[in-house]
Amino acid sequence: MTAADIGGLLRECTRRLAEGGNEDPRFEAEQLVMHVCGVTRSDMVMYPGLPVTAEQQAEVGRCVTRRLSGEPLQYILGEWEFYGLPFKVGRGVLIPRQDTETLAELAVKFAREHLHEGFTAVDLCAGSGCIGITLAKLAKVPVKLVELSEQAISYLERNITLNGVEALCEAVRGDVLSAETAKALPMFDLIVTNPPYLTAQDMRELQTEVRFEPETALAGGEDGLDYYRRMIPLWSARLKPGGMLAAEIGMGQQDDVMRIFEECGMAARYEKDMCGVIRVIYGIKQ
Ligand code: GLN
Repeated sequence: MTAADIGGLLRECTRRLAEGGNEDPRFEAEQLVMHVCGVTRSDMVMYPGLPVTAEQQAEVGRCVTRRLSGEPLQYILGEWEFYGLPFKVGRGVLIPRQDTETLAELAVKFAREHLHEGFTAVDLCAGSGCIGITLAKLAKVPVKLVELSEQAISYLERNITLNGVEALCEAVRGDVLSAETAKALPMFDLIVTNPPYLTAQDMRELQTEVRFEPETALAGGEDGLDYYRRMIPLWSARLKPGGMLAAEIGMGQQDDVMRIFEECGMAARYEKDMCGVIRVIYGIKQ
């Protein structure tokens, strides 16, 4: 990059992204310039003549190169918003998706409506912690966040601090498929999970950006349902009567996952995401 001011840098960055085939070059250039130069969008509009340093030019250039190699914008920025809250992200942790706000919203609503002394919740396969931390922050309930990956758990811990919910959230390192993990935890009023659910076929056809994300957070076995088959029997037994188990699913998995809930003695219901796709299956323990 050679532009000497913010306005020029933004134009140059937009052009390089567009030439490289980026689909939303203006938006992404703004994000990168704001990130590197520490300016707001209104600064860029109102003060395009703000000078930039050689180091900032070079850094924006490095960011563009990374982006054009297919690395997700979110990893380059190092932070992404979920449900209006900030989450640190990077290699080794799944980027929070807007689809997942459906599950977070359902969980917050359930916790608010069923709040009582001793209410407790758990987020299984917590990753960045976006579901559990949002739940703790908005409904003010204690949440345990279970995650196996050491890399993901380091982001999870930073996100607990970043959102100021240290008093409510506890990161627990553990395998959600193991009975030992389940038995070591108390009974819960609310269990939420966004497990890996992509099929073997999906995994072969991943978009370039998604290939940068951890396979362990995505791959759900041949038909994508491995985690539901193993987790729902194990964890529905850890629900208090009247408690709710809610799981995000992939498009079209509702019939299979609802059947698994019903085999575990829970009448299953669903919730659609903002695109109208059935995105969450949930059941209440009798
Ligand atoms: N929704 C993610 C995707 O589309 C998948 C996340 C998951 O498997 N839980 O890539």
